[in-house]
Amino acid sequence: MANHRRIKAVVFFTVFNAFLFLSIPSPPSTEERKAFSVYQQKTYFPKTSQALTVHFISGPGKGPTVLVFGGIHGDEEAGYLTAERFIHVGIKNGNLILVPRLNGVAIKKRQRQGLGGDMNRLFDLPETTRHRNPDAKVVDLAKSLIQQADYVINLHQAYDFYAPRWISRERNPSKWGQCNVIDTPIYYLHNGDKLEPGRFAQMVSQRSNERIKNKKYQFLVNNTNTGGPKTRHEEQKGSLTYYALTKQHKIALAVEATKNCSLPEAIAFLTIAVNSALGEAGIQSYFLPTEDFLVIGREINAGKKKSKTGGQAGTHGRSTEPAAAFNDALVFAPT
Ligand SMILES: [Zn+2]
Repeated sequence: MANHRRIKAVVFFTVFNAFLFLSIPSPPSTEERKAFSVYQQKTYFPKTSQALTVHFISGPGKGPTVLVFGGIHGDEEAGYLTAERFIHVGIKNGNLILVPRLNGVAIKKRQRQGLGGDMNRLFDLPETTRHRNPDAKVVDLAKSLIQQADYVINLHQAYDFYAPRWISRERNPSKWGQCNVIDTPIYYLHNGDKLEPGRFAQMVSQRSNERIKNKKYQFLVNNTNTGGPKTRHEEQKGSLTYYALTKQHKIALAVEATKNCSLPEAIAFLTIAVNSALGEAGIQSYFLPTEDFLVIGREINAGKKKSKTGGQAGTHGRSTEPAAAFNDALVFAPT
């Protein structure tokens, strides 16, 4: 009888445990998660030096469209390497359009300019002369993608650190590192509505800075006041973000990471900024790229090895070890 009761108990606990196991959903695998999002990619201007691939990712739910550009300047490596890290994200709602290497010629040359000069000054070329610029077709493609977006993020890198007031030669209003650049805080539309890139940039900075413990590397908002009568940045009238805001009425942000750190650290900063922008725009995700610069360093090294064996393009042999001076500088809070 006792034996019979023991068997009954074993059966009961086995069934009970099986029930528990089945009722607690195990986290979906990467492949399962990917199945929720739709991935498409298209290569434009194939077999030319200006060939570029655009990635379209759509989540199952409704939501905004965020467009991320990298590589408009070829000497800002962290920008295009960061945009490429988002190709496999899984999003629950909305759409993500990625153009990691907008200016392929400049990237190949590792220079700011490609075939037609500084591409971030070509978005206001006059109709009568623009056809003479060899980059006009790339700019036109960027403009048509901007049309599909609600939010536009352009990734950059620059030396030193932006500050609204002069603090030092490294940290002052003429520097661009570690800031979210807007052309104006509020943009009024003819129909009485208004866009608030300033509020968006501030929230993206705030979300980012919660994950950047070292205050020296926290993001500030840099308002270039591009359209204002006393602007110090007349040249920005030809920029991608000013075009997106004033001609297509999109919230547009240029994110600048500093070059005064290692490449993995700069990529980590830009990844934090994009993750923050997606969150602020209202895109929920299943998984996003890691913001840990040590993991990013390993990713880059793995990419280099792959490129040596004929795989994806690597990082052109540049040192990707985190600089010793910054090893203790960046400690990210868990996300
Ligand atoms: Zn740039």
